[in-house]
Amino acid sequence: MPADFDTIVNLSKTRGIVFPSSDIYGGLRSAYDYGPLGANLLRNVKDQWWRSMVQMRGDIVGLDSAILQRREVWQASGHEEVFSDPMVECSECNSRLRLDKLEDPDQCSVCGKRGTLGAPKEFNLMLRTHLGPIETDENMVYLRPETAQGIFINYENVRRSQRLKLPFGIAQVGKSFRNEITPGQFVFRTREFEQMEMEFFCRPEDAAEWFDYWVKARHQWYLDLGMTSENLQIRTHADDELSHYSAGTVDVEYKFPWGWDELEGIANRSDFDLKQHAEHSDEDLRYLDAETNERFFPHVIEPAAGATRTAFAFLIDAYHKEEVNGEERVVLRLDKRLAPYQMAVLPLSKKEDLVGGTQQVADLLRPLYQLEVDVTQSIGKRYRRQDEIGTPYCITYDFDSLDDNAVTVRDRDTMLQDRVSVDRLVDYFAERFAPTA
Ligand code: ATP
Repeated sequence: MPADFDTIVNLSKTRGIVFPSSDIYGGLRSAYDYGPLGANLLRNVKDQWWRSMVQMRGDIVGLDSAILQRREVWQASGHEEVFSDPMVECSECNSRLRLDKLEDPDQCSVCGKRGTLGAPKEFNLMLRTHLGPIETDENMVYLRPETAQGIFINYENVRRSQRLKLPFGIAQVGKSFRNEITPGQFVFRTREFEQMEMEFFCRPEDAAEWFDYWVKARHQWYLDLGMTSENLQIRTHADDELSHYSAGTVDVEYKFPWGWDELEGIANRSDFDLKQHAEHSDEDLRYLDAETNERFFPHVIEPAAGATRTAFAFLIDAYHKEEVNGEERVVLRLDKRLAPYQMAVLPLSKKEDLVGGTQQVADLLRPLYQLEVDVTQSIGKRYRRQDEIGTPYCITYDFDSLDDNAVTVRDRDTMLQDRVSVDRLVDYFAERFAPTA
């Protein structure tokens, strides 16, 4: 049975995956805090992205640019002028609403009144702050609304220092901020969030081919990490939907409990950004072809995904409720690589010698895996608890372990159990966690 929205929100709070930010003061809705399990899940999602986009490729390098950048960056990129949503205000309930998200443009979606919405106004989505002790226009800076511009402004630094030749990519993961008019649907749309973006620079004549390549590769990434294929779709943007920089965009969409919505956008940004920054900074950002001596602006294909949104989608997709021997079992069928803990080590009972042996097994595996030792409650309850947080393996140290130096390894999905000698445990799991492509 798939998860409904409230179930996931509740599970997130009770199991320490996601908490409302400033919870003890009533929450903030614009931002969320990741609890111990959520922090692991989010980190694993980002690590898998980095692994596939940087580590496994010879043609993409990483970057970690600052959140605070000069205002000129956002003037050159076009964000200061056009990064806005048309907004209407309801004269009855004073709600501010995004015009493009209203089902009926004549009706307020909050109070339901008709004819109360004012004329649309453009609202810039960038958050601002001031650097230094005095708040003046000169020291105002924006918090970045995307990580991409940090890549474009470092294009030449990276290319030159790494001696890169086209085609090549620069990847970055990090926080972005948008003053969204209507944050909501839990962590799906927040004002502080995390992105995973890669700018792939290529020759203009190769851009169409690379665009198709990246649409396929990014779709496959979600499938390889176990996302249900029926819950994923590719949607091509209509011309009137395209962002100011885009010559073509395709979204990877997930079937969320409220319907299809965006996980990632793959855009053909042409040479828009490099040209803009070259013009505004007076730096020559053209690429020099050493063979032909020709100078030109590379074109750019950008797969831009949300880390926080993607972690949320993996969580929803993994949630299953099923009946086992007449009892209900909740299980998160997260890919082994994404699960907050790869394994739990459990003594059969709280008896001292069992707890000691359990600790020894935990010490053996802790350098290699994120794991939890859980001593409380009956073994059945502890299995259920680990199922509910998606732990792929439970290792139980029982009374026989004291004699045979072996443990029981239970598989989350099949619930089958293996008896494995402690001496073989490291190899046993190495086989199961062996990295694939
Ligand atoms: P949306 O249409 O949902 O507002 P967008 O098309 O403006 O998103 P992009 O600018 O393409 O988004 O950003 C790339 C990715 O960053 C999105 O696909 C999404 O996963 C993530 N993202 C964007 N805005 C938010 C947000 N407010 N909260 C969480 N994730 C976001």
